[in-house]
Amino acid sequence: MKYYIKTFGCQMNFNDSERIRGILQSIGYEPAQSWEEADLILLNTCTIREKPDQKVYSHLGEYKKLKEKNPRALIGVCGCLAQRMGQELVQKAPVVDLMFSSYNMHQLPELIQQAQAGYKAIAILEEPPQDEDQLWEYPTVRDNQFCAYVTVMKGCDKNCTYCVVPKTRGRQRSRALQSVLKEVKELVADGVREIHLLGQNVTAWGQDIGLPFEELLYRVAEVPGVERVRFTTGHPRDLTESIAKAMGEIPQVCPHIHLPVQAGSNRILTLMDRGYTREEYLEKIDMLRYYVKGISFSTDVIVGFPTETEEDFEDTLEVLRRVRFEQVFSFKYSPRPDTPAYSMQGQVPDEVKTSRMAKLLELQKGILAEIALSYQNTEQEVLVESSEGGKLVGRTRGNRWASFPGEEHLLGKLVKVRVVKSRPFNMECELLQVLG
Ligand code: SF4
Repeated sequence: MKYYIKTFGCQMNFNDSERIRGILQSIGYEPAQSWEEADLILLNTCTIREKPDQKVYSHLGEYKKLKEKNPRALIGVCGCLAQRMGQELVQKAPVVDLMFSSYNMHQLPELIQQAQAGYKAIAILEEPPQDEDQLWEYPTVRDNQFCAYVTVMKGCDKNCTYCVVPKTRGRQRSRALQSVLKEVKELVADGVREIHLLGQNVTAWGQDIGLPFEELLYRVAEVPGVERVRFTTGHPRDLTESIAKAMGEIPQVCPHIHLPVQAGSNRILTLMDRGYTREEYLEKIDMLRYYVKGISFSTDVIVGFPTETEEDFEDTLEVLRRVRFEQVFSFKYSPRPDTPAYSMQGQVPDEVKTSRMAKLLELQKGILAEIALSYQNTEQEVLVESSEGGKLVGRTRGNRWASFPGEEHLLGKLVKVRVVKSRPFNMECELLQVLG
């Protein structure tokens, strides 16, 4: 039996899909090359904005054809849209045979049996089940041999007024330290050298089990064979001085952090219920720059949140000029059902969002060009992840992509390179030394 998984959304969803592949392969399924040859198609969905919702329906429309050719084929939907819509989604798309969410991926084998027996296997739970941790007993099937995502917490206890995550992934649940370390050791034994810790709000890990996040950084870095540690997504409110200190002290922790600011206006940050001011956010950036040598930053920004004025938007641009992010994931505000901001007065017209987005991208383009120049002729450490078109490709500790001519035997190696041609999103380099 063959499976095909289509994944939308964030790194958490991609790591969930890697786990689902592990579950399916543990019950004898093999990966299909394309959806046309699958016996089971799974859509792992996102509902953070309107667009991903729409994409799900168009894919389901496409996959319907599979059933004409292979009536025994099963079509399933999981992830955040499944959790948010539940039965309503099946009514809208009756082609769906099975549905579950990030709460109960470990129940997939039973759901497949039910669907194969001709039942609609719909298991959308109000809240995470007691046995949710069973999930960690399944391996992940990854595309990247040397870098691995490790989910360390699920859900979120914050209530940002534009965000559906607390509704679709539930309240914050930290994964036990020993369970994380067990997976990290297995991954290292499997050839992984870089561990990327994941959570919707990863810096809150441990708050519900009485441990500080930095403890996790120290313990993961201590595992023999772990060369690099990254983590996503931090929240400014949980980014403590002791975490910044640990990032500076632990050699394996890469000097890069993704720290969503979302907006620069204090009035808008309050309406978003982000729980920090622009000044407090910039203090965190300064604190990180103090403790972590050469740290680089990326962020998320929402343009056109309800009631956002030109002055508010100018405050956002001012933060970009001040911090000089190496990557900005910017989005036009998308009203989401079941979120407080959905019914807020003062929704910003789409053409205004579009013109502000253009201004933001123009500003960021200039900043990125200047940053790229600053890397010209520098030496960088790169973990070689893959080879493409006769070139080896990998990321620096600062999370910048680098490529250079080299032999395949360097795959998985740490090397030192010199930057020959630096561009905003890629650096052409020459190999200087193999580090190990
Ligand atoms: S911190 Fe806010 S934006 Fe992030 S997942 Fe939680 S509620 Fe959503």
